[in-house]
Amino acid sequence: MDERTYTADAEPGDEATVAGWVHEIRDLGGIAFLILRDTTGKIQVKFEKDEMDDDLVETGLGVHRESVIRVAGAVEEEERAPTGVEIVPESVEVVAEADPELPLDPSGKVDAELPTRLDNRTLDLRKDEVKAIFEIRAELLRSVREAFRGLGCTEINTPKIVATGTEGGTELFPITYFGQEAFMNQSPQLFKQLMVGSGLERVFEIGPIFRAEEHNTPRHLNEATSIDFESAFFDESDAMDACETVVRAAYEGVAENCATELETLGLAETFEVPEESFPRLSYEEAIERINATGELDEQLVWGDDLPTEGERALGEEMGQHYFITEWPSEIKPFYIKDKEDDEQLSTGFDLMHPSMELVSGGQREHRYEHLVAGFEQQGLDPEAFEYYTKMFRYGMPPHAGWGLGGERLVMTMLGLDNIREAVLFPRDRQRLSP
Ligand code: ATP
Ligand code: MG
Repeated sequence: MDERTYTADAEPGDEATVAGWVHEIRDLGGIAFLILRDTTGKIQVKFEKDEMDDDLVETGLGVHRESVIRVAGAVEEEERAPTGVEIVPESVEVVAEADPELPLDPSGKVDAELPTRLDNRTLDLRKDEVKAIFEIRAELLRSVREAFRGLGCTEINTPKIVATGTEGGTELFPITYFGQEAFMNQSPQLFKQLMVGSGLERVFEIGPIFRAEEHNTPRHLNEATSIDFESAFFDESDAMDACETVVRAAYEGVAENCATELETLGLAETFEVPEESFPRLSYEEAIERINATGELDEQLVWGDDLPTEGERALGEEMGQHYFITEWPSEIKPFYIKDKEDDEQLSTGFDLMHPSMELVSGGQREHRYEHLVAGFEQQGLDPEAFEYYTKMFRYGMPPHAGWGLGGERLVMTMLGLDNIREAVLFPRDRQRLSP
C-alpha cells in the first residue's frame, strides 16, 4: 500500500517519506534544492553538500527531471521554501528514471503545441493547469450524478454497439459485428426512451457517443461524452426545468469544491453560477433577433437551421444561458413530438451557452402510429427499428428528455478555446491514438 506522506500533509517536526516526480533541481553550489511534486503539490528537498553523505547528494542531484523518487527525512520549517517547509533527506531512492530528453516540459516553462501535448498526455497532465481541467471535469460529473439522483433518476448504461443509427446516416461509424454490419451508437436516444416505459420511468446516462463528423472544429469530437436524461410523464417544459437544475448543479459543485483548480486556471474571480432560470426564446424570436444583429450576410428564413455565426451573434446579446424552443418540426428528428395545436412547430428545444449549443431535447412522440409515420417521413425504415417501435404498443407514457454534451459543458464553463482540452484522449479526424 501507499504509505508515503503527501507533500501537502508534511508538517514541520514530522519524519516523513514523500514520493513523486523531480520537478526541478536548483544547484547553488554548496547548497542545492530539489523540488519534488506529487498529486497534492510540491515540496522542497534541501541538500547541504558539505554536511551530507556524498552518495546521497549524488543520487539526489544526479537524477534527471521528471524521474520518480522517494525521499525520507525530517520536515522542517523554512520560510523561504515555496510551501514554507522543506525536507532534509536521510535517504533518496530513484524509483523510476526519466529520460533526459522529454517530449514536453511539465514545468510549463516551454510551451508545447496541442498535438504534442495530446501525444504525451501523461506528461501534459503533470501540469497544474491541465490537471485542474480534469479535476473539475470529475467534480462536474459527480455533481451532475448527484443532481440526477435528487431528481429521482436511475442511472443506466445502454449499448454502444448497435444495429441502427438515429441521428442521420452520414454521421455513423460502421463496424463489423461477427460478419454483420453494425454501428457505434450516436446517442442513447432510443434506449433511454425505452426505459421510460419500463418500471424505471426516469433515467439518466453518462456515456460515450460516436459521431463521424467530417470536419475538425473546435467544438466537435468524434467520440464525446453525452449526459442524457429522460422521464416518463414529463413535457418539454418539465425537461427544461430538469436541464436547468442539472447545469446549475454542475456549476455549483465546481464553485464549492474546486476553488484551488479555479484559482490555478485564473478563474477564481470571474467564475459564476448561472442565474436561477434561463430565458426561453422561441425559434421565431431567435431568428428575428439574429437577423436584427446584421451579422449575417443572408437573412434567415423560417425553417433554416441556425448557423454558427448566428448562434454567436445571438449569444453575445443574451449574455447567459438560454433556451430556444418551438423549433420547426421539419428540422428536428422524428422522435420529437409536434406541438398539439400546430404541427409545423415541434416541442424540441436547445439549451444554448452564449458561445454554442449545449443541449438538444424535447417531448417525444409516444403515439405508435405517429411514430411509425415519422420514421417514414425521415426516410428511415420503420422495420429496422421494430425493437423500439414495438414497445410503443404496450403502454408507453408521454415523456421528454434531453442530451447534454459533457465536454461542451466543461469547455464553456472554463472558457476553453478547444473542446480537445476537455478530453484526455480526443478522437478527431487526425487522431486515433493515443
Ligand atoms: P451541433 O449542431 O453543435 O453539431 P447536434 O445538434 O448535432 O450538435 P445533438 O445531436 O443535438 O448535436 O446532440 C446533443 C448534444 O451533444 C449537443 O448539443 C452537443 O452538446 C453534444 N454533441 C453532439 N455532437 C457532438 C460532437 N460531435 N462533439 C461534441 N459534442 C457533441
Ligand atoms: Mg442538437
